[in-house]
Amino acid sequence: MKRVASTCPYCGVGCGIVLNVDEADRISWVDDVPENPSSDGMLCVKGRFGTTFVNHPDRLTTPLIRRNGNLEPAGWDEALDLVAAKFLEFRGAFGSFASAKATNEDAFVQQKFVRLVMGTNNVDHCTRLCHSPSVEAMLQQLGSGATSNSYSDYEDASCIVLVGCDPGSNHPVVASRMRRAIDSRGTRLVVVNPRRIEMCERADIFLQNHPGTDVAVFNGMARAILDAGLQDGAFVASRTEGFDAWLAAIRETTVEDCAAIAGLDAADLRAAGLLYADPPRLAWQPADWRPGSCLVWGMGVTQHTNGTDNAHSLLNLALLTGQVGRPGCGVSPLRGQNNVQGCGDAGCVPDSLPGYQRYEDATIRPFEDLWGAELSRDQGLKATDMVEQIAVGAIRAMYIVGENPLLSEPNLHHATDLFRKLDFLVVQDLFLHETAELADVVLPACSFAEKDGTFTNSERRVQRVRQAIPAVGESRPDWAIVCEIARRICPNVEIDPRQFDYEGPAAIFAEMARLTPFLRGLSYERLDAEGGIQWPCPEPGHPGTPYLYAESFPRGLGKFVPVRQGALADEETDAEYPLILNTGRILYHWHGGTITRRVEGLLDRVGVIPVAVHPNDAESAGIADGDPVMVMSRRGRLSGEALVTDAVQPGALFVPFVKLQDSAANFLTNNVYDPESRIPEYKVCAVRIEKKRERKRMEAAGEPSRP
Ligand code: SF4
Repeated sequence: MKRVASTCPYCGVGCGIVLNVDEADRISWVDDVPENPSSDGMLCVKGRFGTTFVNHPDRLTTPLIRRNGNLEPAGWDEALDLVAAKFLEFRGAFGSFASAKATNEDAFVQQKFVRLVMGTNNVDHCTRLCHSPSVEAMLQQLGSGATSNSYSDYEDASCIVLVGCDPGSNHPVVASRMRRAIDSRGTRLVVVNPRRIEMCERADIFLQNHPGTDVAVFNGMARAILDAGLQDGAFVASRTEGFDAWLAAIRETTVEDCAAIAGLDAADLRAAGLLYADPPRLAWQPADWRPGSCLVWGMGVTQHTNGTDNAHSLLNLALLTGQVGRPGCGVSPLRGQNNVQGCGDAGCVPDSLPGYQRYEDATIRPFEDLWGAELSRDQGLKATDMVEQIAVGAIRAMYIVGENPLLSEPNLHHATDLFRKLDFLVVQDLFLHETAELADVVLPACSFAEKDGTFTNSERRVQRVRQAIPAVGESRPDWAIVCEIARRICPNVEIDPRQFDYEGPAAIFAEMARLTPFLRGLSYERLDAEGGIQWPCPEPGHPGTPYLYAESFPRGLGKFVPVRQGALADEETDAEYPLILNTGRILYHWHGGTITRRVEGLLDRVGVIPVAVHPNDAESAGIADGDPVMVMSRRGRLSGEALVTDAVQPGALFVPFVKLQDSAANFLTNNVYDPESRIPEYKVCAVRIEKKRERKRMEAAGEPSRP
């Protein structure tokens, strides 16, 4: 057995793992790493048992080229020559999705290729679909889009407020750390969620608000804090700006008004605000310790057409109470994929260079000096806009790396129609997934277990990923494929091809660190010697930073942004579609399921989409627990199995967005977007539910067919 230390490839918690590899170069089992500060010796079911996808027989092993309508095996040179020629042809109408599952090094090289060789900033990644409103709001108000605290702060907090997230399913090791804090240290818990999640069992206060009412909830909490005089006046005076304008907006409303909008008891809303602002001193905390609160949120906050406003309302609350910048408090948008933090840090976003450096002369010049060419200062298209812009021909060729937009985009029938209009589509991935099936060229990429690199987790910890097994088939690391394509195009666009002659991932990381001020002190030597290190780490001797904003914010003062509760959602219910569909994740599957559907043990656990429906609605529709059901929206339908539960509110359904048995939630969701971040409104769409046998009877009787 060979033992190789690496990092879990699933969620943004970033647990340390050891891959045990047998003589046939297969991963036999996975161990935890007790000394890893992020996971503290824990792993969830996906990290422990979910790596068999690496050797799944569905792995792509050679490049594929579409000939006469069919994807056929091809040699690397032929495929790369074709890709390079076509990308050059469509250079003015090109867009690229990077992968939040790939390494920082893969991401850095990809954005360099898009910017330097393709001459555009049209590069983005899946943060657009999960936390772009959080990043947008945090950049405006604080100057950084990252989680401010460490996971250890959840265990040092006196109060944790969980908003629109379900860490028990989606970030299980973080949830374990929170449970440990609550059970053994006395930490208080507030849950804000339209759905009763498993953590509610431990909650002191559960605010089960109506979907789309987050601004009302957090403005109401702020008003309660002000009414009780529990704001941190010294923090507001010395560390923030914009307070008066924000205060005027808050004074337009009352706690009772906000509670009525959100469908809550005003006393509960008030109590939640006071607990967050003034959490109790716990028995273990010394006399000079200031009790703190952690504000933790997920996609229930962000995936709305008012997602950025929701995030603003949360951040205003943290600024009002001074709950940042010391141990035991902070603001945490829990990141979804393993390297979604790193993919953004590495520059795979359309509005900034690596390190979130805006397109200004002073920040862009070091890149131009090192890369030897002028770069575009124009904002690129965001991922959702790239897809919509296919319709008008502004995007004609796309390079999709490690993403499957034809499962993750909203309104999949619409998205598929658009992707079919592309003149040239290249997909680079492990499997021939839904998007790859439409591609002109498919390039086989290595998994995390077949390459070296780094991932950056949700607490900004940069950790090593190490090659444990040889590349499967002819697959290659993403960064190496991108470099091959780049070198073929460079001579045609007057770029020195040596810009893509890297000796390996360590050299790429060194270039990224040199160009990114908050990573400058990091190197493979340090990461190998010391383990993961949290950025900012601005110079080689720097120990890393467990929590941000101790003295100041990156933008100087924290900024209050007034927000008012607007329309709850773009789409409303009616007699035909009377229920609201909420989407999310479950423990046993990961996002669209492209990987977890190829892990037998996980598929055995959940092989059909569970459709959570309230008992009242189930009874009205004649549905019993376990019945096969169909859910329909104005755009599409899905089949699943009824899970009758009062965890959802009357009038609401919940389904995970994994694709199982050819059904997926995103056939139903709506392609409407938050104006600032351009995130789709995944959390609200109007639907109805029917028992499947009833549906079959209607079709047999020739009754009118609906979408
Ligand atoms: Fe992997 Fe996340 Fe589970 Fe940790 S909590 S083992 S990072 S999926």
